[in-house]
Amino acid sequence: MKSFENEIEKATELSKQYRELTRHNSLATYNISKSIDALVRNIDLDLEIYFFSFMDKRILGHSMTDKFGTTITLNTLLEYKNNDPRTGFTLAHELGHVVLGHPLGISFPDLNSVKGYERSANVFAANLLMPFEVIVSQIQEGFTQKEYLQHPVFRFNL
Ligand SMILES: [Zn+2]
Repeated sequence: MKSFENEIEKATELSKQYRELTRHNSLATYNISKSIDALVRNIDLDLEIYFFSFMDKRILGHSMTDKFGTTITLNTLLEYKNNDPRTGFTLAHELGHVVLGHPLGISFPDLNSVKGYERSANVFAANLLMPFEVIVSQIQEGFTQKEYLQHPVFRFNL
């Protein structure tokens, strides 16, 4: 895989580009579902999102590409918890793997590559879902971090 720093930089750049699709500088208008919808519509890929009950409850999401297109599968654990912020984060993380061009649906023998891919997908998701400008504007408006995370916009409904 490419160097680790390049991968993080690419994740930061791409998340910025996708954020431009739904510009929000205020928590009042910020909406995770809309940001993710805009991103999915903008990806030039045959993309399907499913829920599946993984035997391993630690697996929250998985992506793979085959002749039918790209499939993101989320654990049904998340489906039953629509208010769980992990639903949006897991989907954004998996979308990160897709848009960053990570190898999908295979297991990587090299642990360092896995860490690099996972970390850059997390950077992508965090930047997409918690834009710096939104956080700064909310702090200026007097929101505490706890209030920010409890705000209804973070409830994600598929
Ligand atoms: Zn991952």
